[in-house]
Amino acid sequence: MKGPLFDAHDHLQYYRSEAGRGAALRLAAEAGVELMLCNGTNPGDWEAVLDLAAENERVVPCFGLHPWRLKEGAPGWLERLESFLLRVPSCVGEIGLDGGKNAADPARQEGVFIAQLRLAKKLGRPASIHCVRTWGRMLEIIKEEAPGPFMFHSYGGPAELEAEFASLGAYFSFSGAIMDVKREKLRKALRAAPPERLLFETEAPAADAPGWRSGPAGIVEVLSAAAAVLGRPAGELSELSWANGKRFTGR
Ligand SMILES: [Zn+2]
Repeated sequence: MKGPLFDAHDHLQYYRSEAGRGAALRLAAEAGVELMLCNGTNPGDWEAVLDLAAENERVVPCFGLHPWRLKEGAPGWLERLESFLLRVPSCVGEIGLDGGKNAADPARQEGVFIAQLRLAKKLGRPASIHCVRTWGRMLEIIKEEAPGPFMFHSYGGPAELEAEFASLGAYFSFSGAIMDVKREKLRKALRAAPPERLLFETEAPAADAPGWRSGPAGIVEVLSAAAAVLGRPAGELSELSWANGKRFTGR
C-alpha cells in the first residue's frame, strides 16, 4: 500500500516517553502517514497537542473536552478552548456522549457536548465525536444543532443509522476493532457506510486488536483489515480515505 495515508484519530500526547513517540512518528512517516488528527481531551493536554502540531506538519491538532474528563472542565474552559482553536487551523475534538461504564452525569455531558458543537459551528471547524451507547440521543442533538462536518471516531453505532447521520454531515471512522471477526455488527456498519464518508484510525498509542501495530503506522493494518471486510483492494481504500480526510479537514 502506498501513501499518502490518513489516520483519523490518535492521541500522540499520551506516549509515555519522547523516545517512544519519536519512534512511532518515524515509523508512521516511513509508512506514508501524511496526516493524522491528534485529539486533546481536556485543558491539561491542549498545550501538548499544540506543540506536537507545531513540530510536525503532518499532525492536525484537535482541541476538546472529552466526556470522561468533565472534572477537568474548570470555569472558563470553554473560552480557553476557543482561544486554542483560534491559534491554529484545527478541529474540535475529542468531544461526545458516553452512556457506557465510564459515563458520569449525563446532563453535564450533554451541556458540555452541545456547547462544543456550537463552538465548532461558529468557527466553521469540523468536529471529532466519541459516542457510546447513546445513539438515539446523539441523533436528536445532531438534528437540532445541525453542525458542520463531523466524524464519529471508532464508529460503533448501528448500520441502520448511518444513512441518516450521513445526510446530517457525518463521516464514519473505523478502528482496528474491525479486525475482530466476532464483531459482526461493526463489520456490517463498515459495509453500510457511504464510501465518500469512510475514514480509518489507529487511536494511537492504543491498539486493541491482536496483530495490530500500535502507533499511527498501524493504519496500514487497519486499512488491510477493512479491505478484506469490504472485498476491495487496500490501495483503493487508502486513496479513498485520504481524499475523504482531506475534505473533512479542509487541508
Ligand atoms: Zn480517542
